[in-house]
Amino acid sequence: MNNTTLSASEHTGLASRVCAITGGGSGIGRATALALARLGADVAVIDRDLAGAQATAAQVQALGVKGVAIGCDTSSEADVNAAAASVQEALGPCDVLVNAAGVLKAASLEDMSLQEWNRVISVNLTGYFLCAQAFGRQMRTTGRGAIIHIASIAATHPTGHSGAYAISKAAVSMLSRQLAIEWGPQGIRSNTVCPGMTWTGMTQEAYGRPGAAELRGNAIPLRRIGQPEEIADAVVYLASDRSAYVNGVDLTVDGGFTRNLMSLMPRTAL
Ligand code: NAD
Repeated sequence: MNNTTLSASEHTGLASRVCAITGGGSGIGRATALALARLGADVAVIDRDLAGAQATAAQVQALGVKGVAIGCDTSSEADVNAAAASVQEALGPCDVLVNAAGVLKAASLEDMSLQEWNRVISVNLTGYFLCAQAFGRQMRTTGRGAIIHIASIAATHPTGHSGAYAISKAAVSMLSRQLAIEWGPQGIRSNTVCPGMTWTGMTQEAYGRPGAAELRGNAIPLRRIGQPEEIADAVVYLASDRSAYVNGVDLTVDGGFTRNLMSLMPRTAL
């Protein structure tokens, strides 16, 4: 038996791993970039908001690891291929891809325009596919890789007035499973993290209103909205060697919200 203790970075195996994080300029992507950097990973921060990506990359570098910022619209194949080439040149072949770049556009399906539909699908679904393809090529050269897609509890729970969002997230879950079986034999794992309600730029407007966070938080067994760092912790697990045999799963991180259905039932007896 080995009696030596391990550092967190030895435990996770993430030191010097090359991680590409889309949507890394804000919210869950930024929290994930920093969590991976704290464990010694080198991080490429990819976002269409270059200033946001640069701010995250500066925080990554301050942790003593390599950090690069890349401006990229993940729904553009040319942008994604250029971003993947930049990552390889700056840091080496990608070991970990985190697909987090996403958009939420409120709409009802009744009168949603095709343009709005296509915009959400092109970022939330096609962008994830394009990034998986581009970075997956690099993973195949080393015979190892972990892809983590940020889906949502909306992937399994329809959400009123959310337009194509929930539909795109359901498709992300299947994209991930499909990759898990197609690329597993090549040493590449694919899993999703499904966050529940989380404080980020995407939800600031909704939760920032007086009383809104308390109202929503009260519907959650843990009685609060989640923080991006709590989603990042689940991503770190799926990126790390500690999940080496985990492939094709959806990991829900929602404070128990989606297990709460029966407690919402009005009580008629007892
Ligand atoms: P956020 O708005 O803080 O961050 C999203 C980032 O994606 C931004 O930096 C934005 O510039 C970037 N982005 C958007 N479109 C892009 C594109 N075409 N190309 C490149 N970058 C692009 O939001 P967040 O909450 O951190 O969202 C991250 C992921 O988590 C999303 O996929 C979102 O759907 C998912 N999610 C969020 C919540 C929540 O409650 N916040 C819940 C479930 C799932």
